[in-house]
Amino acid sequence: MNAFTLSRGPSKEDKKYFTSGDPDTLFSDLQEIGHGAFGAVYCALDERPKSATRGQNVAIKKMSYSGKSEKFTDIVHEIKLLERLKHKNIVRLEECFLKDKDHMVWIVMEYCLGSASDLVDVQPGRLLESEVAQIIRDVLHGLSYLHSNEIIHRDIKAGNILLSENGLAKVADFGSASNKSSANSFVGSPYWMAPEVILAMESGRYTGAVDLWSLGITCIEIADRKPPMFTQNAMAALYQIAQSDAPTLDQNADWSHTFHSFLSCLLKKNPEERFTATEALQHSWFKDNRENPQELVELIDRTKRLVREQDEKQITMQYKKMLRIYKGGD
Ligand code: ADP
Ligand code: MG
Repeated sequence: MNAFTLSRGPSKEDKKYFTSGDPDTLFSDLQEIGHGAFGAVYCALDERPKSATRGQNVAIKKMSYSGKSEKFTDIVHEIKLLERLKHKNIVRLEECFLKDKDHMVWIVMEYCLGSASDLVDVQPGRLLESEVAQIIRDVLHGLSYLHSNEIIHRDIKAGNILLSENGLAKVADFGSASNKSSANSFVGSPYWMAPEVILAMESGRYTGAVDLWSLGITCIEIADRKPPMFTQNAMAALYQIAQSDAPTLDQNADWSHTFHSFLSCLLKKNPEERFTATEALQHSWFKDNRENPQELVELIDRTKRLVREQDEKQITMQYKKMLRIYKGGD
């Protein structure tokens, strides 16, 4: 270890969050499925002898805590939060391991197929409004649970909403979450940030209402395929969020009047006028689009087929390219 790899080691108190033993021997077939600021997420086969999910897939988020000394504190903060949370619309934490020697923490979670952002990227066109509603309803149930436990997520966006094989959407990534019912730090992803987070330095504290604004932006992201102002740089976008009127869905697309009205209840610039998660769940948009996990299962199947086709096309293209190289033709 040198001066650049100084890190706060785990204290006795921290150690209770980790299972002892070498995780390398307990999980096999690791394949990278996601990447973030901290490192990578893998899909792995669970081989833990007493595990209820033995022989099934789990997701492993590998986080390094070498470098800055706050990193370990941040990781433990994320684990402490996740450990308390048990809800069908929140990604489930299974177990955590400490690889002290490599300054790594492994967070083992339930395996999901991918994020709502991956789903939108793969689809050639827009999702159906009823499909968007299924995802948003699930996230609202997750948010209602979080807020009743005095947790603010602070980074709601399609990339942090995961989809499970049985057609549920789940809130993931508690790396930015606050365990207090009000906060004032500048945290989150710029395009999804609520106006009061941007202005918090001047006007004081904000509450869980910030997640409802970000969910409104996520509705636009999922429905119209990009959050508003995505072509602008982050600083310009932050300025606009604070100064301009709230954004709306693409007026030229076929979204229903009820969807527009639902969104306007989330995208209220004044957080006190904004719907809470529980109020949002009562909106007539969810009466027009009844709860039906099967609809998401079918959307996931459709997406899997598209990925397979794209993979095959890619392989065929690569194969043809290889043939051309071999034969020297065009
Ligand atoms: P970050 O803090 O870097 O954003 P995330 O927890 O959001 O980290 O994970 C990054 C990506 O990894 C996600 O967008 C998703 O694609 C994938 N991922 C994370 N957790 C899981 C999981 N439990 N199952 C499947 N994929 C996951
Ligand atoms: Mg994330």
